[in-house]
Amino acid sequence: MLAEPGDVTLQREPARGWPDHAAVAAFKDDLARAAATQSRAGVTETVAAVLDKWLWAVPAAGRPGSAADVSLAVRARMSAAFAAAIWRHPRRTDVLRAVLDSNPTTTGETALALIGGDVSGIQRFIYGTTTSHAARSLRARSMYVQFIAEVASRRVTEELGLHPLSVLMASGGRFYILAPVDRLSRLGDVSGQLLAATRSAHGFELQVVLGGTAFSLDEAGAGMHAPRMGDVLARVSESLGEAKRHRLAAATPATLTALFSPGASSGTPPPCGACGADADFNPDADANERRCRFCHELEEFGRRLLSDSSRAIALTAPEHASEGLNRAFGQLGLAVSVGRPGDAARVVTLNSTAIPSAQPTSWGFTWSLASRGGQPADFAELASRASGRPMLGVFRCDVDGLGATLARGLGEDVSLARLATMSWLLDTFFAGRLGELVEWDARLYPVYGGGDDACVVGAWDAILDFALQVHEEFAAFTGSSRTSQRLPRIVPGI
Ligand SMILES: [Zn+2]
Repeated sequence: MLAEPGDVTLQREPARGWPDHAAVAAFKDDLARAAATQSRAGVTETVAAVLDKWLWAVPAAGRPGSAADVSLAVRARMSAAFAAAIWRHPRRTDVLRAVLDSNPTTTGETALALIGGDVSGIQRFIYGTTTSHAARSLRARSMYVQFIAEVASRRVTEELGLHPLSVLMASGGRFYILAPVDRLSRLGDVSGQLLAATRSAHGFELQVVLGGTAFSLDEAGAGMHAPRMGDVLARVSESLGEAKRHRLAAATPATLTALFSPGASSGTPPPCGACGADADFNPDADANERRCRFCHELEEFGRRLLSDSSRAIALTAPEHASEGLNRAFGQLGLAVSVGRPGDAARVVTLNSTAIPSAQPTSWGFTWSLASRGGQPADFAELASRASGRPMLGVFRCDVDGLGATLARGLGEDVSLARLATMSWLLDTFFAGRLGELVEWDARLYPVYGGGDDACVVGAWDAILDFALQVHEEFAAFTGSSRTSQRLPRIVPGI
C-alpha cells in the first residue's frame, strides 16, 4: 500500500483503494522535486527520504527466496549502503564477483565492517536537571541528544570517506554504519575526534562512543547460508561496551586533571539553576532562574522549535568557534538551528513528511516527541490540570524482551533489512504515534520518545488513561493481540 506514514499509523485498515492515483501522482511529484536537489549526495539522500515516505509499508523480500517481510524503503536503503561500501572497497571487483557468484571460498573473507555509534549518558543528561522548572528544558534536551546522534553519524561517514546513505539505522541515540573493512583501522582516530568534540561541551557527561567489527559476505547472507547479522550486531555491541569502559583512556592528562580537581570556591559566578555549571545569564536572579550559556540557549532552542511553524531543524556549516548550544555541534562539523534557511547543508522536518518549499541541499524527516505540543508548562501547572488532587504522573515505558526478540524472534534470517525495518517501525510508534496521542491532550507533556522507549509527564489521571491507551495501541500495532506470545510486550512504568 502506497501511503504516507501519518496516514497509516492512525488507521488499522487501508483507507484508499488500489491503485490510488492521487498517491502515485504525489509520489512522482516528490521524486521529481528530489531529483532537482543541487548536490549529488543530497539527491540520493532526499530520494531515500521520499522512498521512506511512500514505500515504508510496501512489503519486500530481504533477499531472493525469503519472505516479503521487510519494508521496500528499507530494502532500497540496504542495497544503496551495500553498493556504496563495495564501491569504496580497495578490491571492489573481487568483492562484487564474490557476491554475484556466491562462491563459498570468497564469501568467507571479511570484506565489510559494521560500525556502531552510541550516545552515552543520555538518561542523566535529559533527566539530570535540578530545578522545578526542569520541564522547560527536558524536551529541548532530548531533541539535542537526537541531533547529536545525527550530526555525529554524518561526521563519521565524512571522516571515513563514506556516502551519507551508509548510515543504516539511527534511533534512540544509536546508529549503525556500513563500511568497507579497511575503514576499521581509522575508527580509533574518528572516535577520538567525537570524544573530544562532546567532551569540550559536556565533559564526561554526554559522549559519543564508536565500536565496530569486520564481517564476511557470508554473514551478510551473500553466500550459501542465511545471514547471521545477529552475531555481527552482538560483536558491535561488545565493541561499543569496550569503548565506553575505556573512554577515559583517550583523555589527555590536562583533561583528567581538570575533571578531578576541586572547583574554585570563591570569585566565580553562581551555579546554573539547571545543570550546575557557572551561570552567565541572570547570575543575580533567584537560584532556579540562573542559567549557563548552554542551558540558556537550549531553552531558547526549545521555545523556538515549538513556535516555529515549519518545525524543521537546519544543519549548516558552523561559524568559527561556535559556543553555547552549538559548541559540540560546531566541533562535529555542523551547526544546528531551528528553521530552514536556504543555505542549510541539510534540513530535517519534524513530524512532517512535506518537502520544504525552499529546496534544501538535502532533506529528511524524523519523528520527535520532543517537538510536539504547545509551549512548555511547569510541573506545578500540569499537576493543577488533574481532576481531584493536583498531582503529577510520570509515564515511562520500553519494550520488554526486545533484545531476545532481536536475537531470536526474527528467526534464522537475522538480516540488517529485518532489523532496520523493525527499528523504523518501533521509532514510528514511540516517537511518531505517541506524539500524536500526547498532542491531543493538553494535560500531557512529552519529554522523550524514540528507539524503543518513551517518557511523558502529566496530570496523574491523564497519565493513567494514557498508559492504558499506549498498551492497547502497541498490542494492535505489533499484532500481538491477534497472534502469538512471542511478540514484544510493552511495559508501562507509572
Ligand atoms: Zn546550565
